[in-house]
Amino acid sequence: MAVGSILESFEAVLLDLDGTMYHEEYSLPGAVDLVRMLQKKGVKFACLSNSTTSPLRVMNRMARMGVEIDPSNIYTAAAATADYVLHEFPDRPRIFNLATEGIQEMLDGLVDWVGGGGEPCNAIVIGNPTNVYATDERLRMALQLARKKAKILGISADRVYPSARGIEFGCGALTHMLAYASGEEPIFCGKPQRVFFENLCRRLNVQPNRCVTIGDNLEADIVGAKALGMQTILTLTGVTRRKDLREVMPHLQPDHVIEELTELLG
Ligand SMILES: [Mg+2]
Repeated sequence: MAVGSILESFEAVLLDLDGTMYHEEYSLPGAVDLVRMLQKKGVKFACLSNSTTSPLRVMNRMARMGVEIDPSNIYTAAAATADYVLHEFPDRPRIFNLATEGIQEMLDGLVDWVGGGGEPCNAIVIGNPTNVYATDERLRMALQLARKKAKILGISADRVYPSARGIEFGCGALTHMLAYASGEEPIFCGKPQRVFFENLCRRLNVQPNRCVTIGDNLEADIVGAKALGMQTILTLTGVTRRKDLREVMPHLQPDHVIEELTELLG
């Protein structure tokens, strides 16, 4: 069976964004047409990202690249973190935001925001060190809160991320810094965490074994999705190279490998 027609045998297609659909501000070959094809065929799909911002903000970025998509088709690690907070603390939690405006927008009105290190706090939401809420002053407040047992919630466990300036410290690095300093264990909500894929399947109303995940990162996309019994397609346009697969155990290998998304436009 051609790889392209495989997509039709699933109830939902999960598409990673960075390195799969786009690279910095450019869409990758086949990305725009693949979304159009899924929209035309009425196949359920979601675009996934370990981004620390909201689906609405990702939607605007994609629109600038010529991909018109509804925010309900986008699931970011920040959205997964907001879902986790509301599920874990159903009684209007007290949250400290060390991350983004996207987190602020998604949880505004649903939580009480903590404004200082001396206040009661259920959880601290942590993003990248460059996020607007991660100021020196707020980092010190977060440390005070973590030492008083506020939960340490990392949006993703990413060690680093690429930017126009080069490689930057990622959300995982900042989260571990706070966890190390306070002696508490962090919790992560993005890919490849189980909670990320489970929440997304709940939103899409599909069983994981009826989904196929397409991504460029073996660890975050392929291994994460396989852990829930999803089928997987690795695209070689991002992080993982074909030679990286030589060292990988058979049960962690992607089900299919493609050079780029155009191979799925059957
Ligand atoms: Mg990626």
